[in-house]
Amino acid sequence: MQIDGQVIGVLSICSWESDAFDAEEMKLLEEAAGDLAFGIRGLRIRAAHVEASDTIRRMMSYDSLTGLPNHLQFEEWLQRSMNEAVASGHSLALQLLDLDRFQEINDALGFRQGDQLLKEVSARVRAAVGENGLVARLRGDEFAILLLEGDVGQITAITRRVLSAFESPFMLSGIALEVSAVIGIALYPQHGTEVNGLMRKMDVAMRQAKTSGERFAFYAAERDEDTARRMVLAQQLRRAIKGDELVLYYQPKIDLRTGRVCGMEALVRWVHPEQGLIPPDEFISLAEHTGLIKPLTDWVLKSALRQSSVWRKAGLSLPVAVNLSARNLRERDLPDKLSQLLRDCGAGPSSLELEITESAIMDDPDSALKVLTRLHEFGIALFIDDFGTGYSSLSYLQRMPVDAIKIDKSFVRDMTMNANSAAIVRSTITLAHDLGLKVVAEGVESREAYDFLMALGCGVAQGYQIGRPMPVREFETWLSQSPWSSSRGRGRG
Ligand code: C2E
Ligand code: CA
Ligand code: CA
Repeated sequence: MQIDGQVIGVLSICSWESDAFDAEEMKLLEEAAGDLAFGIRGLRIRAAHVEASDTIRRMMSYDSLTGLPNHLQFEEWLQRSMNEAVASGHSLALQLLDLDRFQEINDALGFRQGDQLLKEVSARVRAAVGENGLVARLRGDEFAILLLEGDVGQITAITRRVLSAFESPFMLSGIALEVSAVIGIALYPQHGTEVNGLMRKMDVAMRQAKTSGERFAFYAAERDEDTARRMVLAQQLRRAIKGDELVLYYQPKIDLRTGRVCGMEALVRWVHPEQGLIPPDEFISLAEHTGLIKPLTDWVLKSALRQSSVWRKAGLSLPVAVNLSARNLRERDLPDKLSQLLRDCGAGPSSLELEITESAIMDDPDSALKVLTRLHEFGIALFIDDFGTGYSSLSYLQRMPVDAIKIDKSFVRDMTMNANSAAIVRSTITLAHDLGLKVVAEGVESREAYDFLMALGCGVAQGYQIGRPMPVREFETWLSQSPWSSSRGRGRG
């Protein structure tokens, strides 16, 4: 039996008689051996994919500086611990530890010393927490601790122990450095029952501790100004969707093989009458939690498709990509609504692309699968957005009828400076291609990154290096002047 010209084994078949098989039977047996080898090859490729996918996953879950789990794994732990706590009736505590004046230390001593300090901090915190909980590094100088059980008294005792780990100075290149930390604490289920909400509340608690000059604080709803502000904003957003306060910006996507524009992403902004331009990060999650995401997405789809049909009539036929939220995937009538919208605009399914984050899909994989299958059958290209920031592996996502993945900007931005990110980008591209998926890299901020992606065989690039998201007129001017939109090639340096 051979795979790619190499013998991998021998299939032996014996008979009592000599010359038991005639020529035709021999041919059949040889074919059977060939089929077996083909099947074994398939199994080995699948095993290699699962292994590669697991490796990427592992690399994505750890912080390469301290060796601690990163925010991704912390959120995964939290989700898992909450599921277990529901069954056992246990409570949980989340703590966010933030260093005082870390930026100053970094600026004064250099980032190498800053990195050294973070390593030392992570070792001390881990030792102080011990068997009582799990420690992760979320970002920069922020660490998170998950305590798996205990009453307020026990939690307070552990918190004091962690803070006392900062009492002795840190030795950095012979200098004794005094470093202090502040801790914010949120409790499950008292302060929330979902990952994002709890993560926000430990953050609010940490800031509450800072403003009141305490070393640590439990989340206090009555001091959470954010909640009040968000309520007001939600009211105003409802009016904004109906009125004319939302606008779409368009960001170009470049085909790396031809160096030309191959599409664009529609990104929503809110022109608030008093506060000015509000970025989507500040109101999308609000819309998701207040039942406004459906009208908002309808508005975005309608505006993007109308604009794209104006451009098509002017001779510019490029697909426009729209972002969907988890809740949109629960709308059973979404495929019908989209098909109606496309018809109204005289557009075919290839003029629309949909971007969906992996966490949105994993929110309710069964109903996502149903909706995505219909959209896919319909001919609309589906992209997994922010790939690498969720919990799922590529081999799982491949079961969804998707066409492409967008590697998250955090990896792409870092890859020219950080070997770990470069390895993640490289192996994600290889694996996605093996699985028959196209790859888009977002967050391309330098020529170096652009060239690196091209060398890796990545299909499409998007980022500030090429063009920022722009309002309609500016986008049109950009197109008319940009080297990316002519056959002149790769454009700006
Ligand atoms: P996203 O879908 O990942 O969109 C890409 C974001 O990265 C955009 O931020 C874009 O301005 C930014 N970006 C693009 N190139 C670069 C780069 O080279 N470097 C850096 N650092 N950033 C870059 P934006 O427009 O603020 O949107 C943020 C997020 O808001 C989007 O992330 C998307 O998740 C959400 N969003 C935007 N519009 C909509 C919408 O219409 N519906 C829904 N559901 N979500 C939306
Ligand atoms: Ca997107
Ligand atoms: Ca993205």
